[in-house]
Amino acid sequence: MLPLELTLVVAATRNMGIGRNGTLPWTGLKKEMAYFARVTKRLPSVLNRDGNTPAMNAVIMGRKTWDSIPPKFRPLKGRLNIVISRSHTEPPAKQINAETEAVKVGSLEQAIQYLESSSTIAQSSKVFVIGGAQIYASALQLKEARRVLLTRVMSDFECDTFFPLQLSEDSSEAKGDNAGRWVRKSKEDLDQWTGETVPEGIQEENQTQYEFQMWERVE
Ligand code: NDP
Repeated sequence: MLPLELTLVVAATRNMGIGRNGTLPWTGLKKEMAYFARVTKRLPSVLNRDGNTPAMNAVIMGRKTWDSIPPKFRPLKGRLNIVISRSHTEPPAKQINAETEAVKVGSLEQAIQYLESSSTIAQSSKVFVIGGAQIYASALQLKEARRVLLTRVMSDFECDTFFPLQLSEDSSEAKGDNAGRWVRKSKEDLDQWTGETVPEGIQEENQTQYEFQMWERVE
């Protein structure tokens, strides 16, 4: 693979709430979920050295987030699913059927090592960290975490789980331990990176308002 880059994907309220009672605080954001599926599945336009498009992108998640996905929807289709748990003490299987099972690893570092040697994942595949809070926190400690695709949920929801970095609208800079400096990118940058024309401005579904944003870490 090319030097691996991690893109965190998260939907968060203005105070970075992301979860409640082991599930999402909101329901019925179908278009938001469809955006997540499209963006994480869509392969990069870059070709590999052999001139082929990569086989799949990867989504990395914590065990609790995996548990929160209804069994009939997991593994998430069309993506290599990697699940992190302290109970995964065996080395991950080298060959798996990505359409029917997930790769089981014991840490985020192991997930990265697996991807660096995997044939399912090609050089230019995109690697997404899709939660929850514990795994986002581990990812943000790594220099590989370059980008956050944030769905900013404008409506208020009670939450018990929070994204561990405050991406602030006011100062356009993030605050937090080891946060580095994060800046919000333009709509054009978001479109280019995702490979689609992302709906612009405030969206509304099921009486919940939200906005698609992209943030990047500044060197
Ligand atoms: P996580 O999904 O981050 O999973 C936590 C589990 O991951 C731990 O219990 C442990 O599994 C494993 N783990 C964590 N750190 C390590 C480590 N260093 N080494 C090995 N294994 C580790 O759980 P959270 O509770 O933080 O987040 C879940 C919540 O977030 C839910 O409410 C979910 O709905 C929400 N969520 C929201 C998203 C959004 O975009 N709004 C996206 C994703 C989730 P084990 O206990 O098996 O050892």
